[in-house]
Amino acid sequence: MKMLINGEWRDSVSGKMFAVHNPATGDVVGEAPLGGEDDVRSAVQAAGEAFGDWSAKSPRDRSKVLFFAATEVRRRNTDLAALLTAEQGKPIREAVDEINGFANILEYYHALSAGERGEFMNLRGYGRTTVLRRPLGICGAIVPWNMPAIIMAWKIGPALTTGNTVILKPARTAPLTCIKLAEILGDAGLPPGVLNVVTGPGETVGREIARNPGVRKVSFTGEVGTGRQVALDAAPALKRLTLELGGSDPMIVCDDAEIPMAVEGVIRGRFYNCGQVCTAIKRLYVYESIADEFVRRLTARVEAIVVGNGMDRGVGMGPLNNPAGLERVVSQVDAARDRGEGEIVAGGQTPEGEVYKRGHFFLPTLITGVPRDSVLFSEEVFGPVLPIATVSGLDEALDLANNSRYGLGASVWTHSADVIARATDELEAGIVWVNQHLKIPPEVPFGGTKASGIGRENGSRALEEYMEEKAVLIRL
Ligand code: NAD
Repeated sequence: MKMLINGEWRDSVSGKMFAVHNPATGDVVGEAPLGGEDDVRSAVQAAGEAFGDWSAKSPRDRSKVLFFAATEVRRRNTDLAALLTAEQGKPIREAVDEINGFANILEYYHALSAGERGEFMNLRGYGRTTVLRRPLGICGAIVPWNMPAIIMAWKIGPALTTGNTVILKPARTAPLTCIKLAEILGDAGLPPGVLNVVTGPGETVGREIARNPGVRKVSFTGEVGTGRQVALDAAPALKRLTLELGGSDPMIVCDDAEIPMAVEGVIRGRFYNCGQVCTAIKRLYVYESIADEFVRRLTARVEAIVVGNGMDRGVGMGPLNNPAGLERVVSQVDAARDRGEGEIVAGGQTPEGEVYKRGHFFLPTLITGVPRDSVLFSEEVFGPVLPIATVSGLDEALDLANNSRYGLGASVWTHSADVIARATDELEAGIVWVNQHLKIPPEVPFGGTKASGIGRENGSRALEEYMEEKAVLIRL
């Protein structure tokens, strides 16, 4: 595949390509140009030239393109999902969900944009005042590999519909679906230069997007450390930033929780996408009085998850996306095992068998009795591993839940109105679920507190993140 600059599909300036591998088999799925700083500079030039005409269009004309693209994405859903599974590893039904999610988000911003207006105030002594909202200009969108299509939509949806132009940088290990989606947007009528896609390493392409003074805003999703680097690189030009960073979501299971529902909540909330979701359940706190029954049922359910190639029928969990991710999960579990922290009651290792040898597989893992100070609780574990601790009640559960540098999501499982009121009030998180986890409809603002990030994506407020206000006071 090629990268997209100024409406043309190009090789990189270096002329080099990099291979994208299937994480289940190691086979080459495709290749993408190894872009660098010069490619970003060309994209900035193209995006700058396209900005005038694009921002002058009516919101309706701009958002129509998103709608047409969404329709085409739904029509080609099966092929796009197969490509996503091939490069990312997730089971095909999760890939179908994600591709549909991309379309849902574009349709949401299409519907919303027609209603986006400024404000009018008639202020005595100051005259008639309007507040206009203008697009920012060129926006950088830096995307990770775990949910590439959804996260691309979270960024380009509000950016494009508000009249900005975009430079998108997909992740090294999952760029192909993003390229295909950009192609569909072009075919749907996006003018040349409005959306540019530069593939390549974070250290060159990503950093140039963060540094280049022509880029007015950077929306970044990825690890905390990388987000900090992006903020430092963007600081000299005083850019707007949205940073969606890591998470270590707690799940609190109270003594009145419906156990079968909570067990299914863990299966989806922890093992979806092989545990590689920023808002996956990464710490489980269960009331002592129900812990035995809960863990027994959960263990049986986890052991029934079929691990394999995401394209194969019946597979419930695919491989991790890349070897570095697998290595990190193995080292975190080994460190806990070496220190005797807790008991591994399910998984804890890579699966045995010839079919698993070429992929980055790890079994779905449960570890009970994990001490409060374990790295499994303090670090983000970006894979299918769930550390579990028991708690005596709500005070202790909330203390432990909030005792984290992260603050992305959290859930409480109960039917008590008092507990719901306290937990939703006190949990330090950007999103709190009750009797569910991981659901993020396009209408809901999404983002983190503490080290989990700055700013919000999704929802109507995301439009404001891509615009600035201009107050106009008229005295006649
Ligand atoms: P990462 O930080 O390694 O990479 C993210 C993107 O940034 C990639 O495109 C990468 O090439 C690029 N990049 C790398 N170095 C860069 C630099 N110096 N400057 C600019 N760009 C650079 O993250 P990852 O491993 O791809 O994703 C996993 C992480 O993302 C996890 O921590 C996860 O929790 C987080 N995440 C957060 C959210 C959220 O919305 N809060 C959503 C998904 C994933």
